[in-house]
Amino acid sequence: MKKEASKFDFTKNEHNILNLWETGSVFHKMVEKNKNSKERFRFLDGPITANASMAMHHVWGRTLKDTFIKYHTLRGRSCQYQNGFDAQGMWVEVEVEKMLGLNDKQAILKYGLDNFTEKCMERVDHFAGIQTRQSKRIGQIMDWDNSYFTNSDLNITSIWYFLKKCYELGYLAQSYKSMPWCPRCGTSLSEHEMSGSYKELTHRAVFVKFKIDGLDERIVVWTTTPWTLTSNVAIAVNPGHTYVKVKTKSGEVLIIGKDALKVLKGDVAEVVAEFKGKDLVGLKYQPALALKVQEFEHKIIAWDVVSATDGSGAVHIAPGCGAEDFELGKKLGLKQIVPIDEAGRFTDEFEYLKGLGTDECEQLIFDKLKLNGALYYTHDFTHNYPFCWRCKTNVVFKLVSGWDIKTDKVRPKLLQAVEKVTWEPDFLKKSMVNWLENMGDWNISRRRFYGLPLPIYPCECGEITVIGSLEELKQRAVKWVDLPHLHRPYIDEIKIKCKCGKEAARVPEVGDCWLDAGIAPFATKGYFTDKEYWKKNFPSELVLEMKEQVRLWFYSMLFMSVVLEGKAPYEKVVGHSTVLGEDGKKTSKTDKNIKVTFDEQIEIFGADCTRYVFASANPVFDMRFGPTMVEEARRKLIAFWNSYVFFNTYAVIDKPDIAGYTPSKFSVTDVWLMERLNQYIKTCTSEYDDYKAHNVVVATERFIDDLSNFYIRVNRRRFWKGESGVDKLNAYWLLYHAIKAVTTVMAPITPFVCEYIWQNMVREVEKNAPEFVMLADFPKKWNYACKLSVGIIEQVEFVKEVISLGLRIRAAAQIKVKQPLRVMYVKTAGKKDLSLFLDIIKDEVNVKSVEIVQDDDKFNVPYLVVDFKKAGAVLKGDVQKLKDELAALSPTEMTEAANRGTFKKYPADFFVRKLAKREEFAAETEADVTVVLDTTMDAGLVEEGHLRELVRSIQVARQTAGLDISARVRFKITVEKDMVELVRKNADKIKQEVLATDLEVIAGKEVKIEILK
Ligand SMILES: [Zn+2]
Ligand SMILES: [Zn+2]
Repeated sequence: MKKEASKFDFTKNEHNILNLWETGSVFHKMVEKNKNSKERFRFLDGPITANASMAMHHVWGRTLKDTFIKYHTLRGRSCQYQNGFDAQGMWVEVEVEKMLGLNDKQAILKYGLDNFTEKCMERVDHFAGIQTRQSKRIGQIMDWDNSYFTNSDLNITSIWYFLKKCYELGYLAQSYKSMPWCPRCGTSLSEHEMSGSYKELTHRAVFVKFKIDGLDERIVVWTTTPWTLTSNVAIAVNPGHTYVKVKTKSGEVLIIGKDALKVLKGDVAEVVAEFKGKDLVGLKYQPALALKVQEFEHKIIAWDVVSATDGSGAVHIAPGCGAEDFELGKKLGLKQIVPIDEAGRFTDEFEYLKGLGTDECEQLIFDKLKLNGALYYTHDFTHNYPFCWRCKTNVVFKLVSGWDIKTDKVRPKLLQAVEKVTWEPDFLKKSMVNWLENMGDWNISRRRFYGLPLPIYPCECGEITVIGSLEELKQRAVKWVDLPHLHRPYIDEIKIKCKCGKEAARVPEVGDCWLDAGIAPFATKGYFTDKEYWKKNFPSELVLEMKEQVRLWFYSMLFMSVVLEGKAPYEKVVGHSTVLGEDGKKTSKTDKNIKVTFDEQIEIFGADCTRYVFASANPVFDMRFGPTMVEEARRKLIAFWNSYVFFNTYAVIDKPDIAGYTPSKFSVTDVWLMERLNQYIKTCTSEYDDYKAHNVVVATERFIDDLSNFYIRVNRRRFWKGESGVDKLNAYWLLYHAIKAVTTVMAPITPFVCEYIWQNMVREVEKNAPEFVMLADFPKKWNYACKLSVGIIEQVEFVKEVISLGLRIRAAAQIKVKQPLRVMYVKTAGKKDLSLFLDIIKDEVNVKSVEIVQDDDKFNVPYLVVDFKKAGAVLKGDVQKLKDELAALSPTEMTEAANRGTFKKYPADFFVRKLAKREEFAAETEADVTVVLDTTMDAGLVEEGHLRELVRSIQVARQTAGLDISARVRFKITVEKDMVELVRKNADKIKQEVLATDLEVIAGKEVKIEILK
């Protein structure tokens, strides 16, 4: 066993260990060890987006996943160690566009779709490589050579299978509706993509006056999106509300809702008439912008959801620009005008607006309104407006055709499936149920390039073919050519033959990226390639991601699995919260507050300390991460390290034969440690089984505290003593097994330091030990029979409490711990038994004896006072004399009298017995225990105190000089004059304690210790 230095360099160790694992093929050996296990840990990794380097917030999920996989490995279970990369979709496209300086879809087409797709795939490979390296650096062990990618042909055709099934079940349908649309990305956004993507924006809103045909009157309408006036087809009024006709100060006659009159801002000269909205219905009016596309009959219509107070009480209807208007238009058979193209620009029919974006035409529209006498006034309007979550561009609403999966028929099955899943924290279940109950149809099509090619082939005969596999595509192809992969533009080359015999081309759309990740429980587990293997891995026992995944990955997986197999793809879902900065503010990879990269942070903090911080956070709550938390983690790990160093320090000298040893004759603290270790293992097993790593950390911290601050402390002399024997070997054996157990329990959380200890301690002590800690078995309960073990954990808890009370008294009375005291009294409420631990308490509190008492007599002084009433009745005037006699007693005489209850020949009822607190006694009470120290000093005790102080000083001098703990040397000691004789008298004892071959004692002004070689 190599002798340890007291300092430990975490990051340096991590690099050595990474090298050790790499050269020793630890991963393959982990797989090999459990490959024939009957038990399997069915885990599924949620794919990480391979579009950037990892940031610190990724470490939370990664740490927890790695921890639980390793725990199950230690438990002897086999597992699929497959990591996943989310590898296609808009997020990749947006970054590649930025990189190539392409500003819109036209630019991409010009660049070449094939080139663009290859660049996207290169980017994914690049970042998957970086993320793999980063994951390895934090100690994550996975089957890195076999990560799954959602852009693989297997993943793509697996989704095809699902979509075909949806089509056969009647779920897949083309839709035509108004959707939020990102003009920059040129695609619609689905409902789940929109949540949280709103910000406060100020737009110019306008009150417009539409001229009623055949009358001089104009009806006032309000809109916050002036560009939609280009597509106005009707004005809606509420038939039941009251409207008024007013003459303005300029003599114009306007129609407006009565409750909206205030928007005229005092411009009313006279209210001419009052009538119901239904009286307006059917009136014809002139569109305000006089565009050619609007040259058809425009009428006022009835709509009973029109509010009396929003705007003017009359609403402009443009079914081509808004979801609600679209629905109304569909019901009433209104025309639809779709003014903008995919880039959000006005199409050619819009005359002077042609080519402009919706946010570029405001002033032109206002000018035109003014020219037509239709502008009343404009004003600023601030509202929550949606933006695109990928590129932050403000969205517009646009009528689009797309492909939906109808959810109504699946919804009840999804809700049933949710019931069978365990959700951690349990509020995730509520979020999921809430989402499922309210979600609309799943819009799965995106008008983009680098994504899942939707396998939908509509034919001009009306037939729609959905292809469900690569084989099917090959069979149906008009002419098959080998494709580099199934992405656009290559896939679009393949036409299929429709039933009718004509050629059908694929729709241009690609799929929603959540389809890509949602198929993982099938594509990655052999559903299409090895059904037997799939059965062994489905459903997953655990999926673990950020809790935001409820309506994203957890949802898409659930949906696809319920459609394919009628049940949830997972048994337990753990969702962790958000990582905040040290200041409690949100962090993200784009956050400018984070000045160092992931790589730099890991080199500064070390992976073990970082993982420790993440593992100890309760996933239910947001956690803070920063140097303070890491420093705290380092302190905790150092406490463990120090226990190991203590063992190492003595074991390198004694070389105890632990491996071949069977202990017997345990001491009482040995029995306690055994029980405590069993308790620790039991707790950690059940917390790990419950996926609560933070509770494993807490249990470990408590155990380490007990190990170092109790077991090692009270047993340290057993390791010091020169001769070996059963007692010493027992202590070694126990300490070794305790450290080995912690090393194994914590290996899933802090793999590097544990591997280090495994290599230098376990493999040195046990020559047959597994090559790596990850090849070990998770520790099991020690079975041994001992009468002492019953209740011993509670007893030691009490002992620790008594010791700490004793030390508290010393601190309060400012008596050094090295100064022995004569006696300590412990008054307990009875039941708790200290009898086995009296020597330990004596040692720790440094007292000559410990007495257990039932009452306060021992540390109080009884005394007598005269009962004036009773004594006065008999003695009359002599009662004062009695009082004086009593006062003249010496303390000893008084105690003696008080114990007898009287003195001289007086009757006992002349006196009352009282108790005074003895001045030399100091006490502390906590709950039902009182500890009292007799602080009386005598020459003997003081001398002993001095000697102990001196021994301590010599020990410190040895340490400072870096002396080996077993080195025997000569000392020259200078002490004060009156100490010289005392030290010389006790020289033999001192020499033994401090391993001195010789002790030269001289007198001087101050204490000085010199080591003579
Ligand atoms: Zn966008
Ligand atoms: Zn056809």
